[in-house]
Amino acid sequence: MKFELSEDQLMIRDAVREFAREVVEPRAEEIDRENRFPTELVQRAAELDLCGIVVPERYGGPGLDHIAFAIFVEEIAAVSGTLAVILDVHTSVGTEPIIQFGSEEQKERYLPELASGRILGAFALTEPESGSDAASLGATGVRDGADFVLNGTKTFITNVGHAGLYIVMARTEDQPGARGISAFLVDADTSGVRFGEPMHKMGLRGSATGELILEDVRVPAGNMLGRPGEGFAIAMKALDSGRIGISAQAIGLARGALDYAVNYAKGREQFGQAIVRFEGIQFMIADMATALDAARLMTWQAADACDRGLQFSQLASMAKLFATDTAMKVTIDSVQILGGYGYIKEFPVERMMRDAKATQIYEGTNQIQRIVIARELLKVD
Ligand SMILES: Cc1cc2nc3c(=O)[nH]c(=O)nc-3n(C[C@H](O)[C@H](O)[C@H](O)COP(=O)(O)OP(=O)(O)OC[C@H]3O[C@@H](n4cnc5c(N)ncnc54)[C@H](O)[C@@H]3O)c2cc1C
Repeated sequence: MKFELSEDQLMIRDAVREFAREVVEPRAEEIDRENRFPTELVQRAAELDLCGIVVPERYGGPGLDHIAFAIFVEEIAAVSGTLAVILDVHTSVGTEPIIQFGSEEQKERYLPELASGRILGAFALTEPESGSDAASLGATGVRDGADFVLNGTKTFITNVGHAGLYIVMARTEDQPGARGISAFLVDADTSGVRFGEPMHKMGLRGSATGELILEDVRVPAGNMLGRPGEGFAIAMKALDSGRIGISAQAIGLARGALDYAVNYAKGREQFGQAIVRFEGIQFMIADMATALDAARLMTWQAADACDRGLQFSQLASMAKLFATDTAMKVTIDSVQILGGYGYIKEFPVERMMRDAKATQIYEGTNQIQRIVIARELLKVD
């Protein structure tokens, strides 16, 4: 077992870290304050070829592995949870299903567009009445000649209104639950595609989240991803590798908060000395750093298993559960180390704490991760 990063992984870490610190960090607070989608940062990321890390070279990406992807997301999240979720969702659940399940024609049509950042990807599974119980979704796709006609409302969709392509799960088969669901590639400019009002969120405030409304949206049958009835399996597979990205996002948020808190503790004096000299503060920092390291190792282990073609569903769920709970605890403790200033918006740790909360909820809540882990461990339905 090797614990060293490869040349490619080190290269991506250094390039993304520089972009994150020099370009993203100075804008992170304003994006959160103004609730503004950072189009210019997405464009800069595209110019630096950071929009399709895992897309194979023959379709216009650098074809890097999932550890490189996790490093990329962590570096961005360490300064901006908002930009991290936009690029993470685009790259993982918004693009990877096409790499894994797309026909040659679909790959050639969409992957170069997504990898170059000319369009953003999005993933539309959740509905108002179907969240954790995703197999109960109600959107429909009805065959009509050479097309399918899609109807339904998806909600909580990341990148909504900014994405050029939506991977939409809809019920096409006369079968109950998961077996009746198919996946479709839906271009944003297709007639009948509408977007709801943006949701006002606690955190990740610059990322667009909201409803994707499908009203008699006609897509060619050739836009079905995978086979009829395979959509639920495609969505679950997408979420497996998506959870590597969410874990990395959580680690980045925790790292950003911890670094800030450590620097603050070195500079803040009370009782005649820097607060970092108090054992009570040192023990908090030691626990935070330990959990953060464990979370990163779990995430890279899941990423490595994914790249080696092994079963990694359980590993990804364990990483997501541990990393996101760690992010919540580390960001809360970072606020505590800053004392009253931690509660004030001039300091970034409260933003990181608000951003971290979402990681425990999306791509399967942490209750659902426990169900996945227990199911795999115990081999029960
Ligand atoms: C910021 C943000 C971005 C998102 N982006 C996307 C996106 O891009 N695409 C997309 O499709 N969705 C997206 N989602 C939706 C997200 O995946 C769902 O919110 C999540 O899966 C939970 O569904 P729900 O909100 O309907 O909660 P519910 O399923 O109603 O759950 C409510 C509570 O009940 C618990 N619960 C439910 N079932 C069980 C059970 N069997 N055992 C124990 N506890 C249970 C849950 O853990 C939770 O605590 C996003 C959500 C957020 C907040």
